[in-house]
Amino acid sequence: MKPGIIVALDFKDFDSARNIVEKLDNNIDYYKVGLEAFVSFGKELIDLLKSKNKKIFLDLKFHDIPNTVSAAALASLKYGVDIINLHIQGGIEMMKTTVNAINEKCEKENIKKPLIIGVTLLTSLDTDYFNEYNINFDDTLEYVLHLAELAANCGLDGVVSSAKETKAVKDKLGKDFITITPGIRPAFAVANDQKRVVTPKDAKKLGTDFMVIGRPITQSENPVDVVKLIKEELI
Ligand code: C5P
Repeated sequence: MKPGIIVALDFKDFDSARNIVEKLDNNIDYYKVGLEAFVSFGKELIDLLKSKNKKIFLDLKFHDIPNTVSAAALASLKYGVDIINLHIQGGIEMMKTTVNAINEKCEKENIKKPLIIGVTLLTSLDTDYFNEYNINFDDTLEYVLHLAELAANCGLDGVVSSAKETKAVKDKLGKDFITITPGIRPAFAVANDQKRVVTPKDAKKLGTDFMVIGRPITQSENPVDVVKLIKEELI
């Protein structure tokens, strides 16, 4: 199956975000609203995306006590977003409480349940983090798989991870366990600050469900052409 494209709206101001959404028009269905955009102009941006019938990944990476995270997740339902996420490292009880709260409310009020996705190990961290925090793993993939299994056991729908980890995650947890992968760079684009990049074509081969792509599209002079080229890579 072809992976979906989620465009990361990492902008400092609303007008730049609106400009790219308008330019991309019917070429893109999914957008990611992250911390910077949400804190700066979240409601305005979500209203714009909803008015254009776009799907929204609210990437706020919740990490707090169970009561606070489940309350924040419930509050996110009012925006009608399609995907939310939380840190798997926030604990088993936090994940279970949140999944139960969302399932219960969506069922009771007949609301479409957003996908609840777990953040595994941030790609900015590596084995130095294991040493610094005295974590008993030698290998980042093993740790990501461990976190993904905890997330699956708590009822999460999938994980955010590197595309390089997708195949192992799917092998362990099944093809229906969703993988969302940043760090995607089309063969013709520069890597920016992403270190472990994967092309859309390889992400497809590895079984990624959704690719998060920001700067190669949003900073391009011709974002529509870039999206078309990416789609061609996926045929
Ligand atoms: O511009 P670029 O394609 O690098 O954007 C990738 C997006 O994915 C950014 O919004 C970034 O915050 C996010 N992300 C990431 N690596 C992670 C988690 C999220 O690049 N491990």
